[in-house]
Amino acid sequence: MSKVLIIEDEVAIADLEKDYLELSGFEVETENDGVVGLKRALSEDFDMYILDLMLPGIDGFEICKQIREEKNTPILMVSAKKDDIDKIRGLGLGADDYITKPFSVSELIARLEALTRRIHRGTSAAKPAEEPEQLVSGPFVLDEKSRILYKSGTPIDLTQVEFQIMELFFRNPATALVREKILEGVWGKNYFGDVKIVDVNIRRLRIKIEDNTANPTYITTVWGYGYKWGL
Ligand code: CA
Repeated sequence: MSKVLIIEDEVAIADLEKDYLELSGFEVETENDGVVGLKRALSEDFDMYILDLMLPGIDGFEICKQIREEKNTPILMVSAKKDDIDKIRGLGLGADDYITKPFSVSELIARLEALTRRIHRGTSAAKPAEEPEQLVSGPFVLDEKSRILYKSGTPIDLTQVEFQIMELFFRNPATALVREKILEGVWGKNYFGDVKIVDVNIRRLRIKIEDNTANPTYITTVWGYGYKWGL
């Protein structure tokens, strides 16, 4: 069963969506506050997010951007204005689909089912085609089955995206990976966001895994190109 988080400040709309989605077999949680919704989106596991664009406090653009920095879980953006949809596309925030209010319940369900099929087909380029295994490199063990990275036996707390970047490195040892390849490998072919998202995540990864962040030895920079797993 797919688990969906709805972030929508209009309680009546959120509740209505929840009722209909549950009838269609989805497991649904709702959050009416953008800040709390973002926090849950980042800390809990969901299969999909339905994200309203206009929220008090923090808007859907920012929430989408922050989710994408850590996760490639599908996002369906909801907006009351058609113009906003163009803006979402233009900003390249990495939303997977868009729907404008008012929409019919059957339209919403059709969109979500299409996203579900995509998840289950595993079109995300991040999913390795190979069987899960334990990959070892220097003091690191990357366990693809439990999706945990260990350094000298200690588990390191990584986001979904950080883990997928490590997976790419481990599967391409001593290979300079161009940033666009990392972007495509982790966020998928249809991601049109800024390639700088790769740098942001590499910076965070280095803080978590390097012995000395000022002089990284595991993830090395290949100037003007990308990054290399240095072991
Ligand atoms: Ca709203």
